[in-house]
Amino acid sequence: MPTIDYRQLYIGGHWTDPTTAATIDVHSPTTEQLIGSVPRGGEADVDAAVAAARAAFDDPDGWASWHPKQRGETLEQFAAELEARGGETAARVAMQNGMPIWLAQRFESIFPPLLLRYYSDVMNSVPVEEERPGMLGGTALVSRQPVGVVGAIVPWNVPQGIAFLKVAPALAAGCTVVLKPAEETVLDSFLMAEAAVAAGLPPGVLNVVPGGRDLGAALVSHPGIDKVSFTGSTAAGRAIAETCGRLLRSVTLELGGKSAAIVLDDADLGASIEAFFGATLLNNGQICWLNTRILAPRSRYTEIVDTITDLARSLTIGDPLDPETKIGPLVSSQQRERVEGYIAKGKQEGRLTTGGSRPPGLDQGWFVEPTVFADVDNNATISREEIFGPVLSVIPYGDESEAIAIANDSDYGLGGTVWSSDIEHAADVARKVRSGTIGVNHYVNEPVAPFGGIKDSGMGRELGPEGLHAFQIHKTIYLPPA
Ligand code: NAD
Repeated sequence: MPTIDYRQLYIGGHWTDPTTAATIDVHSPTTEQLIGSVPRGGEADVDAAVAAARAAFDDPDGWASWHPKQRGETLEQFAAELEARGGETAARVAMQNGMPIWLAQRFESIFPPLLLRYYSDVMNSVPVEEERPGMLGGTALVSRQPVGVVGAIVPWNVPQGIAFLKVAPALAAGCTVVLKPAEETVLDSFLMAEAAVAAGLPPGVLNVVPGGRDLGAALVSHPGIDKVSFTGSTAAGRAIAETCGRLLRSVTLELGGKSAAIVLDDADLGASIEAFFGATLLNNGQICWLNTRILAPRSRYTEIVDTITDLARSLTIGDPLDPETKIGPLVSSQQRERVEGYIAKGKQEGRLTTGGSRPPGLDQGWFVEPTVFADVDNNATISREEIFGPVLSVIPYGDESEAIAIANDSDYGLGGTVWSSDIEHAADVARKVRSGTIGVNHYVNEPVAPFGGIKDSGMGRELGPEGLHAFQIHKTIYLPPA
């Protein structure tokens, strides 16, 4: 198969020559073969991208000054151009990070244009300026203005979906963006840039500079940036927050997780097994909000462990481009080593009920079997640390208050689920779990509602109108008494 190669970067609305000769090579996690290469952005490229975004934002007649309707029309064009490339984008993501193609079609192809349209609508449905009669005489004119130039840094696990959690609200708000994709998934970001060119996004409104963590750090601390929006590991988020704290720079952080699925004693897991799979093992276990701690009542413990074990055994492992595949490879050999390290630890800390090895017959690619450990204590390493692979720990509990206490006994607080036949009761239990989001009998990142974490899972929110507000600042004009 021919490789996908790019030689220029999308900066300032044009394809420009990179300032260094270095490249990023992308390998397939399925075949281990080279599948493409792109220029590796250097600090001078970050400078050029930030300067272009700055000029576009500061232009008095530019993007930020446009009426939201006018921006909305351009974003509609962008959405349509993304849709035209949707199949290719989904395939590229699947080829780069192992995401099963049916999931890539949803997360990477359908979700980005949906977010562009949603945020255009939100921006157009709420007036940006509000008159408040004052209490001390006069009137206050309160407006929401774009925060400025945004540095957006994204991970490899859901590269397009996560990028548009930032790009869509930022552009709708009137901000301009410099996006830094992760090294593992750079090829899809060039399709995004092609769509932006075809849609006629004004120069500098969106810029893409591929690179590693050093380039990310250069973007975070760049003097031309007003706001940083980051998704990735807690360790990197902490480093970024420190820089932003020193610079007094606004930052949103979406970080790791170790969420709990609380299975109540009246749950019918068998009836919701697809949804349970979606909440626990989606994307080969490589999603921040996945429920990797399964809390099972002692009254039905054996049956629930069996159900989860059967689910893990039933999943088709293979080529992510095959629509039948439920579990693809992990993103890289390093990621597999990391996950295998946790599996080795899990064999000491729990009882392996299925998986635990590389799948037989798949000699190429970074595959790991879906793995379930039962009888795990919540203090075990595999219960505390984010594994980011298809590895579940089943933890027994006595009564509901113990289940809630275990769910809350975590450094993280991002997602979670409660499984029950009684929706209202489950929602009551969900209210008591300390996390930014939680689902009842399913888990979805609903676009209309805020998503984000507490504790080590981050700060700030994406999605919903709150996700737009993250890219806006309030400004007040005091008008004199009439
Ligand atoms: P990572 O933090 O190593 O890298 C993420 C991105 O940040 C990459 O683009 C990387 O180049 C960049 N980066 C790394 N260190 C940086 C630094 N010091 N300064 C600036 N940029 C830096 O994470 P990863 O291994 O690519 O992704 C997996 C992690 O992301 C997991 O921990 C997962 O939970 C988390 N994640 C969180 C969410 C969420 O919404 N909460 C979503 C997806 C992934």
